Amino acid sequence: MKQHELAKLPYPEDALEPHISAETLKYHHGKHHASYVTKLNKELEGSEFESATLEDIIRRASGSLFNNGTQVWNHSFYWSCMSPDGGGKPDAKLATAIDDSFGDFEKFRGKFKAAATANFGSGWTWLVKKPNGELDIVNTDDADNPLRQDLQPLLTCDVWEHAYYIDYRNARPDYIDAFWKLVDWDFVASNYLQSAPGGDSSAQQTAYAKTA
Ligand code: FE
Repeated sequence: MKQHELAKLPYPEDALEPHISAETLKYHHGKHHASYVTKLNKELEGSEFESATLEDIIRRASGSLFNNGTQVWNHSFYWSCMSPDGGGKPDAKLATAIDDSFGDFEKFRGKFKAAATANFGSGWTWLVKKPNGELDIVNTDDADNPLRQDLQPLLTCDVWEHAYYIDYRNARPDYIDAFWKLVDWDFVASNYLQSAPGGDSSAQQTAYAKTA
C-alpha cells in the first residue's frame, strides 16, 4: 500500500513570525496535519483507494477517507501559499487576471477577506481558476476542496480556528490581515500559469509536488 507522508514545511517553524508563531506551526503542522496523514493511512488499508493519488481521493472518496485525504492535501498546499519572503502583490499575468476578474488588487483582497471572515465554522477560503479561465473566490466547509467542483486551486487560507487561535484568539479578520503579509505570490502565479485554460489537473499535481 502507498503510505502517505507528512510534507515538510517549506520553511522553519519560526519563519513566519511575527504573523504566525512557531507555536502555531508546531501544533498546526506537527499535530493537526500529521494526524490527518496518520488517519488517512489507516483509512486506506483495504480500501479501493490504496494506490490512488490524493487528487483521486479528493475527487472520488467520501466520509472519513475523503476528510483526511483532503485535509492532507489542503494543508500541504496552504504551507506553500506562504513564505517568509511573501506579501506584496502579484506581478504580470496573474495581476492582470486579478484585475480582470475583481476590478483591482485591493478589491480582490477585500472580497477574499470578506469571504474568509464570513466562512461559517471550519473551512477554507480559496482563489480558484474556473474552467473558462476566469478567477473566483470560493469558500469550502470543513475539509472540502474546490477540485470537487472542477475549480483549480491557486491560493488558500485555512480558516479553521486551529490556524489562528493561539496568535489571534477569536479575531479571524486580524489573522487574514497577517496572511496577506505572507502570501507567496510566486507560488500562486505558478499555479495560475501552469494550469491550462479548461482546468488541467496535472498542473495542480505539479504544484502539489513542490510541497511533498
Ligand atoms: Fe488547518
